[in-house]
Amino acid sequence: MIIYPVEVILVVTGPVLVIGAGVAGMTAAVELADNDVKTILIDRKTTIGGNALELYKAFPTDDCFYCFEGNRWRPGIRKCFYRSAMIDQPNIDLKISTRVKGISGTPGTFLVNLEVGPQYVDPRKCTLCGLCTDASEAFHLVSPQCQPQAVSYNPERADDGAKKAEEDCPTGAINLSATQTEETITVSDIVIATGYHEMKPSTIDEYGYGKLPNVITQLELAQMLDPNGESSGALLRPSDGAQVKSVMMIQCVGSRDENYYPFCSKICCVFALKHASIISKERNNSRVSVVYMDIRTYDRHERYYRETRDAGVEFVRGRVSRVEAHKDGTLDVYVYDSLLNKYLKFVVDLLVLSSALEPPEASNELISSLGLNSASGYVGSADPLSENEVVAGDHVYACGGALGPAEVPESVNQARAVVSKILQGRK
Ligand SMILES: Cc1cc2nc3c(=O)[nH]c(=O)nc-3n(C[C@H](O)[C@H](O)[C@H](O)COP(=O)(O)OP(=O)(O)OC[C@H]3O[C@@H](n4cnc5c(N)ncnc54)[C@H](O)[C@@H]3O)c2cc1C
Ligand code: SF4
Ligand code: SF4
Repeated sequence: MIIYPVEVILVVTGPVLVIGAGVAGMTAAVELADNDVKTILIDRKTTIGGNALELYKAFPTDDCFYCFEGNRWRPGIRKCFYRSAMIDQPNIDLKISTRVKGISGTPGTFLVNLEVGPQYVDPRKCTLCGLCTDASEAFHLVSPQCQPQAVSYNPERADDGAKKAEEDCPTGAINLSATQTEETITVSDIVIATGYHEMKPSTIDEYGYGKLPNVITQLELAQMLDPNGESSGALLRPSDGAQVKSVMMIQCVGSRDENYYPFCSKICCVFALKHASIISKERNNSRVSVVYMDIRTYDRHERYYRETRDAGVEFVRGRVSRVEAHKDGTLDVYVYDSLLNKYLKFVVDLLVLSSALEPPEASNELISSLGLNSASGYVGSADPLSENEVVAGDHVYACGGALGPAEVPESVNQARAVVSKILQGRK
């Protein structure tokens, strides 16, 4: 008779830490919680939602960006993440204004030291009465859809009105003397969902970003097009509030450039043409042109290329060599057209830069504290050749923008792959 050695299998059951509450992190947290896994979801900001909170309409469906699957714990709710029961799902412990300070322990039993706060506004007490936002510019509502539903406080904009707002807040929600605290948690698995950051291209001299007010980025354009934004969706020149009649977009700003990021940011052709399409259809007094090296509307997104061409968007293959501003707010943009082999001059009201998507601040610290691979500053897969791109290390996973530029459906799929891996490990 063969006697097999007894194998001891340790089934890990501790809570899971999800770092970053954008679309990817929220998906992972909700699906883990629905499967009875205790989940600690942290975000360094005062509201959840990440970049999606500021993007208006989403490709590929052109839906409102806040749509997000709810959870089984509260069936029948609208599929909007700001009403998705993220705040009161009993298996999710949501901690806003929270960052990771240090990680020790071993895979399966990580000790994570968190820096929490300062929490100047208690979201459980704020009723959004608006008294503080009237009294001081330091208080603002990030978005009407933000979760938790509370105003945020920016100490860098503190003024005389802020102290008065603290005294007058009818629910005592404001504490301007709040300080940062620390907390250590023990978790079995870590999910990195820290997303991406849009590069601010002020160091690339030829475009004038940061010096010329009418030169903006795609993320700034998205906020301008949003009916909930400052201009209520109107396309206005930042310099003087005049109606924008002509927009030029410049692709590959800081991407595919050895001086900045050698990689292609993958989704900027698609969101630039999504914006060109919105402007052509909904702001039809404005003309749009796009200066590109290659148009990479991958997969099903080719329709944006076809639709924008049909709508009269002008495509110029080349590079911008310089931008000059006039006193009347218009910009002269000099472009080398590589198909015509000559320099062209365009006069536009608004120049929009499709700027590189870079790893978020503190990405490197997380990668090195967990001994993970790095892929151009983003989290790299533990085994780049394996199909499990979401497995970053032993009991460590990554999804969404944390792995590199990704659209929402891809981020959601990766988050679900992470959940499936964690659940498999607990069987
Ligand atoms: C201009 C523009 C338009 C776009 N349009 C579309 C579109 O139409 N359709 C589409 O599918 N995709 C679009 N995208 C891409 C979309 O934004 C991403 O797919 C999506 O936001 C990825 O979600 P995420 O959760 O991975 O990351 P993010 O949205 O970046 O969220 C990451 C979260 O992690 C938090 N965080 C970061 N670091 C830390 C840390 N150290 N500690 C704690 N918290 C941390 C951040 O505060 C943030 O809340 C667009 C992107 C841009 C720039
Ligand atoms: S005054 Fe208090 S309750 Fe009213 S919006 Fe400000 S923080 Fe919220
Ligand atoms: S997606 Fe398009 S704009 Fe973005 S880096 Fe790639 S080629 Fe350039």
